[in-house]
This record gives sequence, C-alpha cells and structure tokens, in this order.
Amino acid sequence: MKILGELKPGTTQRHMIKLPGAALAKDEPRPVISVTGAKPGPVLFVNAGVHGGEYPAIEAVIRLSKALDPEKISGRVILMPCLNLPAFRRRTPFVCPIDNVNPNRVFPGNPSGSYSEQMTHALITEFVIHADAYIDLHGGDIPEALVPFVLCRAGEDGVAKKSKEIAMAFGLPYVLTITKPVQPSKGYSSYAGAAEKGIPAILAEAGGVGQMDSAAVELLVNGVKRVMQHLKMLGPEGQALGTSASTTPKVLTKFEWVYTKHAGMWYPKVAAGDVVKDGEAIGHVGDLFGDLLEKIVSPVNGVVLFLTINPSVAKEGLLMGIGVE
Ligand SMILES: [Zn+2]
Repeated sequence: MKILGELKPGTTQRHMIKLPGAALAKDEPRPVISVTGAKPGPVLFVNAGVHGGEYPAIEAVIRLSKALDPEKISGRVILMPCLNLPAFRRRTPFVCPIDNVNPNRVFPGNPSGSYSEQMTHALITEFVIHADAYIDLHGGDIPEALVPFVLCRAGEDGVAKKSKEIAMAFGLPYVLTITKPVQPSKGYSSYAGAAEKGIPAILAEAGGVGQMDSAAVELLVNGVKRVMQHLKMLGPEGQALGTSASTTPKVLTKFEWVYTKHAGMWYPKVAAGDVVKDGEAIGHVGDLFGDLLEKIVSPVNGVVLFLTINPSVAKEGLLMGIGVE
C-alpha cells in the first residue's frame, strides 16, 4: 500500500489519505490507521462506511484502531473507518449524495465512472488488492433493522473457500453464501468485487436504524479479532471486547428480497430475525386514507435478515431480505 508511505514494525500510525480519481479531487482526506505488528504476517484490510449511516460498523473500526496492540500482532491491519464520507457527513442512507449511486453495487469500480465508481475503484486498487484478506463492515442503514450476518461469495475455488472460512470465523449467527448479485446492477458488492480480484473477502453486518448500538459494535470488533486469530495474526488470548460470544453460524445459500409494488405506508408483521414460511402474511402496505393497497406474503421459507422499519415506502421499494437455507 504505497499510498500509506513507510510503515514501521511495532507501531500504530495515523494517515490522512487523498484517494486518486478526478471526481474525488476536492474531497476531504479520509482517516486511515495502520497497525503494523512487531512480527511479520498477513495483511488484513478492514473498512466501514461504504454506507454512511451504518454507525456501529464505523465505530467498530475506530475501536479496533485503539484496541489493537502492534506488539501483540503478527502482520499488519489497515483500518479505514469511513469510505463514503459524503454520505456520513449528510446522513444519507444507501447511496452517495454526490451521484446518488449505491457504492455497494458498483465494485470493483471504474476510474472514469461516476463519483462512487471512482471511489470504489480507488479503494480496490489502493488498498484491497494489496491485502491478503478484506473485511467490509456494515449494519442496517438508517431505515433498516437487521439480525447480525456475514455475506461471502459461494463457490469451490480457492478464494471462495478462504472467504467462507473467514466468514465462519467471524462468528455471527448467520453466514450467507451468494452466487450472483441480488439486485441487477452495474457491478458487485464489495466482497464480490474483491473476490473477482482474487482477494478473500467478507461483508459483516450488525446494528441498524441509525443507532449507536454498543452490542453491535462489540460483535463487529470481536468478529474482526476472531478473523485475525484464524489468520494467525493474533494470539488465542485475543483481548475480546465485552461479553459477546462466538456462535457457530448457520449457513444460508439464497437471499430473497421482498418489494412493495405501491408507494405508501408499510406495516410489517414480522421483526428482523423472525422465521417465516412460504405464503405467510408478513405485512401490508396502505395508502394515506388508511385503505389497503397490498398484502405482502413471504415467497420462501427462511429467516428475516433485514427489514425496512420506516413506514414510508416508495413504489417498487425494498421491504426486507429473507435468507434461505
Ligand atoms: Zn451497508
């Protein structure tokens, strides 16, 4: 990672980074922290803030930068607390307010594309491809609740297998292996964009609805430490934060997203983490007279991994994501 300059063994260094890309030229610099172990070992890159309103993820990266002791680490951890700074500054959910693009649909980016495409391209070329493993931390965005889960790419190739091992080591309740993008889009999500470049990668989610949820922060901090133990970067003592225990994740292999046809008021009947059955009534959408527009039924047997909490929903708006075994 030439962009960080000289990194000294046994130290934690702070960097203010200007990412390359013409669209990013006027950006404020992004804080990056490098924790370089006294002993050699793998390079792990961790960022949050691809979505600017997912605060426990951003806080988890900040906490890791304070908690990781370079004297006790083998290898190097590079931490970027917030990639999508324009969204963070303006409290914009899902997209970057500069181009209105969801950065997590345009990985691995394009150096001559829109702002978000240039930003994701810079992240991949300056950081991700120089790492041995990549973790992208998320949570439910400002209108979303969720149950903690990890995403990685499905497959039998070496990168997919390593990604799944890292996903399992992270220790959240669910691991979802994905074959192709859930929504039609220009590009991939972060973990899939990295896997395309040959880097084992996961996307871990905890917390949501615009809150600073300390239990979610603990889950994400401890998950990264467990991955570091798995990669032999951190000893078994591990300096766990708080009381969050590792769980053996349940593996899911399909992600079914449920949309409303109509704009209106959304009344969910289920909560994040609920198990639902194919054909079960899971909520309804009404108009501003209080009349029913649409009954929403589950298209599958599965578990509600994320749920839109705000009642206002747009036409063709996303209501929830259901994970299927
Ligand atoms: Zn996100």
